[in-house]
Amino acid sequence: MPVQYNVSMLVQEPVGSVRRYSVDGDVRIDGERRHVRGEATFLRTQDGVLVTAELAGVGSEQCSRCLGDVTVPIEMTISEEYIATVDANTGSTLKPPVDPEAFRIDERHTLNLEEAVRQSWAGALPMQPLCRQDCQGLCLRCGQDLNVAGCSCPPETDERWNALQALAQEVKGT
Ligand SMILES: [Zn+2]
Ligand SMILES: [Zn+2]
Repeated sequence: MPVQYNVSMLVQEPVGSVRRYSVDGDVRIDGERRHVRGEATFLRTQDGVLVTAELAGVGSEQCSRCLGDVTVPIEMTISEEYIATVDANTGSTLKPPVDPEAFRIDERHTLNLEEAVRQSWAGALPMQPLCRQDCQGLCLRCGQDLNVAGCSCPPETDERWNALQALAQEVKGT
């Protein structure tokens, strides 16, 4: 089910009128269908409808250490004004909004939340998802998944540390 709503009744009501909807639908995100649900409040404004919504979904990402699949809960708060395209009472086309990026209610009074959800979903994704807090990740040399088994690569030697030690020796020597 798409996350779109017919607001033809609401836009005929006075500014300040409110409708509440439960959101339960699908949104395409990065080519995948994602389910979102939650609550939305639609408030009639001078130019359209202000939507505020608390929504939740489940994303699938890659662990930033071992590249395994991770399920991440996504929580979003949306607050966007949708600008009317036509006057609900007269049917005449309204002047387009100053902001060309503004969300629009279409000429059939459909308010589609999909793009707002998509943008807010992107912002809610964790920067570095982890399959678990103590994920050991992959060996940087041989690529072995260190969660599964260790590898036989020699331990990392840090060259900056060696340089520091050499310096310490020198200082001690003088
Ligand atoms: Zn991991
Ligand atoms: Zn290794």
